[in-house]
Amino acid sequence: MEIAPHVHWVETGGSNVYLVIEPPNIVLIDTGMPRQQRTIFDYLRQLGHQPTDLSHILVTHADMDHVGSLAAIHKASGAQVLAGASSASLIDQGKSPKHMPVIVQWIIDTFIHYGAVPQSQISVFKEGDTLPFLGGLQVLATPGHTLDHFSFFSPVVGVLFVGDALNTRDGRIQITPPRITADKTAARQSAIRLLELSPAVIACGHGTPSTNHTADELMQIFNGLRQE
Ligand SMILES: [Zn+2]
Repeated sequence: MEIAPHVHWVETGGSNVYLVIEPPNIVLIDTGMPRQQRTIFDYLRQLGHQPTDLSHILVTHADMDHVGSLAAIHKASGAQVLAGASSASLIDQGKSPKHMPVIVQWIIDTFIHYGAVPQSQISVFKEGDTLPFLGGLQVLATPGHTLDHFSFFSPVVGVLFVGDALNTRDGRIQITPPRITADKTAARQSAIRLLELSPAVIACGHGTPSTNHTADELMQIFNGLRQE
């Protein structure tokens, strides 16, 4: 579903991914859980594009529900993978960042791995970079939920891709629950920074993308976070 000019939301069973369609660039933001490549490629085909038309894959963070299908999609499309430095080294090992309750984290670390992509095949971005999509897509370091977390903002289109820095799981814009947040202070600061951008569209990893909030609503959430 198109949620802003050139920006499509694809629901992939529990987490959202986004496609930016600006031929010759077609950019995928996050990849969902493992085995979601078919859903994403089917969506592309509906728009008249082939998997090999995918040119870039951006990663918000290395949680499995965001990079689970990265290796498969990278392999099928040949698209260039871009991620933060910490995410890149985790993806190289097929590992998720630590941010879960102890026992859950142990189970994840011990038993759960996703398809890895060699670090040599990942281009690393950093805070302050601008990527050549949507009239200039700003790269923002937004640690908190996980320490390797990045968000992407297009001032031209007004779209903010927040990964898990914000979500709308309960139908309202919020940060992730404390029990799955690596650094609560950083998470709050990152969310404040993102809300300050006053985005028209919040393209989140979980919950419906927020397209009809008012500036007042964002300000209320902003104030609530500042007072915590
Ligand atoms: Zn996450």
